[in-house]
Amino acid sequence: MVKAEGEAIAAGAEAQREETGAQPPRTLLPGATIGVLGGGQLGRMMALSGSAMGYRFVALDPAKDAPCGQVTPQITAAYNDRDAARELARRSDVITYEFENVDAGVAALLTEESYVPQGSALLYTTQHRLREKAAIEAAGVPVAPYRKVGSLAELEAAAADLGLPCVLKTATGGYDGKGQAVIRRPEELAAAFRQVAPGAQVPELVLEKFITFQCEISVIAARSASGEVKSFPPAENIHVDNILHLSIVPARVPEEIQRRACELAERIVSGMKAVGLLAVEMFVTEDGELFVNELAPRPHNSGHYTMDACVTSQFEQHVRAICNLPLGDTKLLTPVVMVNVLGQHLDGAVQAACCANEEATRLGISPKLHIYGKTESKTGRKMGHINLLCKDTGDGLSWVEQTNLWRN
Ligand code: AMP
Repeated sequence: MVKAEGEAIAAGAEAQREETGAQPPRTLLPGATIGVLGGGQLGRMMALSGSAMGYRFVALDPAKDAPCGQVTPQITAAYNDRDAARELARRSDVITYEFENVDAGVAALLTEESYVPQGSALLYTTQHRLREKAAIEAAGVPVAPYRKVGSLAELEAAAADLGLPCVLKTATGGYDGKGQAVIRRPEELAAAFRQVAPGAQVPELVLEKFITFQCEISVIAARSASGEVKSFPPAENIHVDNILHLSIVPARVPEEIQRRACELAERIVSGMKAVGLLAVEMFVTEDGELFVNELAPRPHNSGHYTMDACVTSQFEQHVRAICNLPLGDTKLLTPVVMVNVLGQHLDGAVQAACCANEEATRLGISPKLHIYGKTESKTGRKMGHINLLCKDTGDGLSWVEQTNLWRN
């Protein structure tokens, strides 16, 4: 980096610290300890990746045999346990989180008592759909037209204003399609309201215009503590029953759209002054328009393909970003299809990926298996994923089709 550029980034970082109250960046080299709030699969993969670089980890999770705790020391306590959070702070040089519903009080305590380069402002924004949309728009990036809704009368007015079909969502707490309803006809408004806001006195809801999309894509962008920004190639995401089933990379959209998607994600991560990873989910319309749907300030399932298919994985990138190292190269080395392994697929998927598989040999596919070590396997629960490295993503998709494992 040339000196003037470095100075400009440093000056920008200084200005934003004043604005967001974030802590000054510290560069933490391997040997430092990274504390992770949450001990699920994202923490585990972050720890595995960061440990390879020489970082130490400690996780906080309420479950005794959590996926991350199997590979790192763990403090076993509730997420909102202040004493446990203090112990995490005491044992760590830097703290990060692997899920976004971090208790606001704990987030504030940690930023006071430890170094949390991601700050708590980003969490505050992404924990609430209306705040999130406002932040995306403030970065000059389009979202689906929407209205804030707090009563049935407001819902009726908003639907008349936006026109149907629309999607009604809770502003907080919804995930994987829960806490939302598609409304196609005016007579469905009252039932949708009751379904999405059962019993809430003054519900906080958002009504969005239904976007007829050609496909859904996501871009994982990273910003380091000193302001360097990079993004990974967009993944095309296919959901089944609102759970991510496949990520296809390169996404099957023109390169110009891929480039624009990366630009938008980078604009958001810069505009929000985020540190670490920010996953940006978008809709692509038939006309090639892009609308951002959702953000996640952490490693994301749709970025798991990077573990085997990119020069740098999303987990290494997150570690680099929070430790203020130069960000890694995000180049895609090979086409890839990531397929999630849910509880009902586990045994068959392990068999298909680990044992001789004629179909994989015939198609020239290398299946790379990642299993998270969850003690209980349940239908619909994410137990692992397979990255299918292939010459063409069509071959990866054929393999998924022909193994017949993902039909239920
Ligand atoms: P979300 O919880 O916002 O990620 O939504 C879950 C899924 O619902 C998305 O992945 C989309 O497939 C669909 N969806 C959400 N919002 C919209 C929208 N405004 N228009 C069309 N589909 C939507």
